Amino acid sequence: MPARWTPSPFLSASAAVHAAAVLGAVAVPAAWPWAVGALVANHALLAGAGLWPSSRLLGPNLIRLTEAAAQRREIALTIDDGPDPEVTPRVLDLLDAANVKASFFCIGHLAQRHPEVCREIVRRGHRVENHGHAHSNAFSLFGPGRMRRDIARAQATLTDITGQAPHFFRATAGLRNPFLDPVLQGLGLSLATWTRRAYDTRTGDPERVYQRLATRLVAGDIVLMHDGHSARTPEGQPVILAVLPRLLRTIAERELHPVTLVRSLS
Ligand SMILES: [Zn+2]
Repeated sequence: MPARWTPSPFLSASAAVHAAAVLGAVAVPAAWPWAVGALVANHALLAGAGLWPSSRLLGPNLIRLTEAAAQRREIALTIDDGPDPEVTPRVLDLLDAANVKASFFCIGHLAQRHPEVCREIVRRGHRVENHGHAHSNAFSLFGPGRMRRDIARAQATLTDITGQAPHFFRATAGLRNPFLDPVLQGLGLSLATWTRRAYDTRTGDPERVYQRLATRLVAGDIVLMHDGHSARTPEGQPVILAVLPRLLRTIAERELHPVTLVRSLS
């Protein structure tokens, strides 16, 4: 049985604001404009928290590895939006050459189309994690039922294909709403975001992508890159393939140890 959902302190406080506003407006009718103002402000905060990927206001969110993992000089490379039959196998070869393991946040409907690529990720010692079934840009507007169906469908697909149940979920572009936390708890998944990203679905300049990822990279960081939807370099190459060899060299020079998210918790 999944554990009972416990709301974050911020959500509990929001519920208290709602109750106080309603009770106040009933007890003192002249106070209703203030009550409405309090509710509007609270809703703006709730929406804002969901549109801020590294926020922890709506529930637990792994944005950096644990202190113990950082002490071991671990970092986590996380690679989103695959499987991509053209790019993912080449990413796997680059990771193998550096003897590095990564976490791949795969999209359920793409995994159905390219199951052999998902299996190859796991066969080479990496982890497949859950990035939703549809990867909808409107994910943060979904109600709890639709959110649960989307995530559960991807969870079933990825588990069937790889024989390994994902432990982590990441929302499309990291955007979410207060319904997500109880849905994830019900499915036994944990939310993972990132410490560093390079907007590599939009920026095709390898130098800029490298600098955004590597400049302040330190132990404990979670790095986000994309094998699916990867921007192209001026030469037409997926930018992750241009950046990864140099980034992996930098990681080795700084004596950082890339591990999967699951491994970092052990
Ligand atoms: Zn994505």
